[in-house]
Amino acid sequence: MPRPIEALIHVPAIAHNLARARHLAPDSKVWAVVKANAYGHGIANTFEAVRSADGIALLDFAEAKLLRELGWRGPILLLEGCFEPRDLELCSRLKLWHTVHCEQQIDWLAMHKTHEPHRVFLKLNSGMNRLGFGPQAFRAAWTRLNALPQVDEISLMTHFSDADAQRLGQCGIAEQLSVFEKVAADLPGERSLSNSAATLRHNSRVRSDWVRAGIMTYGGVPDFPEHDQAFWDLRPAMTLRSKIIAVQHLQPGDTVGYGSSFTAERPMRIGVVACGYADGYPRHCPSGTPVLVDGKRSGTVGRVSMDMLAVDLSGLPQTGFGSEVTLWGQGPKGALLSIDEVALAGKTIGYELMCALAPRVPVTVQ
Ligand code: PLP
Repeated sequence: MPRPIEALIHVPAIAHNLARARHLAPDSKVWAVVKANAYGHGIANTFEAVRSADGIALLDFAEAKLLRELGWRGPILLLEGCFEPRDLELCSRLKLWHTVHCEQQIDWLAMHKTHEPHRVFLKLNSGMNRLGFGPQAFRAAWTRLNALPQVDEISLMTHFSDADAQRLGQCGIAEQLSVFEKVAADLPGERSLSNSAATLRHNSRVRSDWVRAGIMTYGGVPDFPEHDQAFWDLRPAMTLRSKIIAVQHLQPGDTVGYGSSFTAERPMRIGVVACGYADGYPRHCPSGTPVLVDGKRSGTVGRVSMDMLAVDLSGLPQTGFGSEVTLWGQGPKGALLSIDEVALAGKTIGYELMCALAPRVPVTVQ
């Protein structure tokens, strides 16, 4: 028998979430962002649903190549553009649109010998200070690109740092938008501004010809816990589940796991689950992190170890050896446990949990 852990990838959930992006941004085209192996879900696993988007955005050439091999003929956007001059060859060969965020990338284009002109997304650093030309340099970069015979179309993009913030006054989206409008208002070309949080929360105020739907494609909620999946009508695309492989009976004073971080205060029954941090479950989740046991909510007890964690079975008399444990995602009988809730307990975000799913976990595509 294989170890009883598996990840389920729910393809219809991804199709539903992309349809939500379309519904929320009816005047925009939708990039499905599939970087980092589709946020841990697998490029090939998710392709049947992802192909309903207008374009696919990522940053890895190997992933772009795989998409072409899978038969995707539509637009592919490289979110970080080229990393070295010879990448432009690949862009031509695979027909990739690419972000231009620095002078070096323009230099490479200017030297590039090509018969097929390139479509580029010129990136403005409107305040995040990660990638992009600053407001002072942006127009000169546009003029330089516009003069190149190697470039036939220039679109404009920026990236918001705080679109998920609770109150508008707190979040930089208003400032970033105004920077973008000041610098780019009269420049021609399509715009791509919104990520998931901006698509969900600010679509009425952001004109984005292309929204870049990342986390929402997978049912993750960028502004959790202010809002949840039900609020935004998103469906979890990944379930991580396992089984109870041992049961222990504790007396008051007994401890659980490495470091003895949990001490029973009353008689307890606990289940040991075949899932640990080597499977991608966050080690920092404290006792009480929610789980579903046979679809019923309970919590973890003690430290997460490499291959196992323990859960409280005390209030769940029907459960025991072999019971199904949902670590996140869709449980039995319609029960749900949001990945964002688990992430919050571990002081991280759903993005990290999805991306950290370990290669040793078998995946079933549904
Ligand atoms: N656009 C860019 C440039 C990004 O780097 C990312 C992800 O970090 C996204 C879009 C998608 O963001 P999200 O997953 O929050 O929708």
